[in-house]
Amino acid sequence: MSFSGKVVLITGASSGIGADAARHLASKGASVSIVGRNEKRLNAVAEEIIKAGHPTPLAIVADVTKDVERIVDETIKKFGKLDVLVNNAGIVAQDNVVDIELSGFDRIFNTNLKSVIMLSKLCVPHLEKTRGNIVNVSSVAGLKCIQNVLSYSMSKAALDQFTKCSALDLAPKHIRVNSINPAAIETPIFQVGDLSKELIDRVRDDCISKYPVKRIGDVSDTSSAIAYLADENAASFLTGILLTIDGGYMLV
Ligand code: NAD
Repeated sequence: MSFSGKVVLITGASSGIGADAARHLASKGASVSIVGRNEKRLNAVAEEIIKAGHPTPLAIVADVTKDVERIVDETIKKFGKLDVLVNNAGIVAQDNVVDIELSGFDRIFNTNLKSVIMLSKLCVPHLEKTRGNIVNVSSVAGLKCIQNVLSYSMSKAALDQFTKCSALDLAPKHIRVNSINPAAIETPIFQVGDLSKELIDRVRDDCISKYPVKRIGDVSDTSSAIAYLADENAASFLTGILLTIDGGYMLV
């Protein structure tokens, strides 16, 4: 699998799944445009890619809820085209129907859904030129009920429908749209969310005991799946797919 000569835009690339996907795709030859809010962490990812001898990335310090035009403009200005958009930036918070606040709901939907819609819309003209594709990073929470993450789960369920509807809309333009739907992956997401430590530990232990493979996922699991869906040869006939990366969790 080679991404040599390809330009890949990845949001939320300063940490976790996005950072590893950036390193992985760059190692396959892609020029990556990496987006994150934390300049120090984003530059550290860019440095790692450069030190490894891969194509020099473009680091864009930006907020996906505010800066979508600038993100696309800077990427096109630097690389002249776009082949793949990875909508990865996302946040999680703890809520349920009893304690939900619309401010929290809006924060989650603005990041996990609205930014994806607007960024995808702005990227369509560029992806049409390259016959490129979009990979959205959703979650098993979009497919299965998980207690106490109501707004997050709803945002990912809506994202899954967006993936399928936009796959249908964009097929005539030769743009594929797919998602990965991971179960628990070891990343800092739970630490930066407002989940309590007790809940984080309980979720991790619960997951390990419930998942048929008896482990939670690693970022290498998500990176290889993102690369597979983004690859124009391996996945050329795949669009509208929600690919669960879950150690068999959806089976039980
Ligand atoms: P993470 O917290 O390590 O990374 C999330 C990234 O998104 C960070 O770089 C963060 O700065 C960025 N981000 C958040 N809001 C942003 C904004 N407004 N503008 C720009 N960047 C923003 O978490 P992760 O686990 O790597 O999560 C990545 C994606 O994977 C998310 O969409 C998440 O919902 C999804 N996911 C994670 C898991 C898991 O268990 N880790 C499981 C299923 C799905």
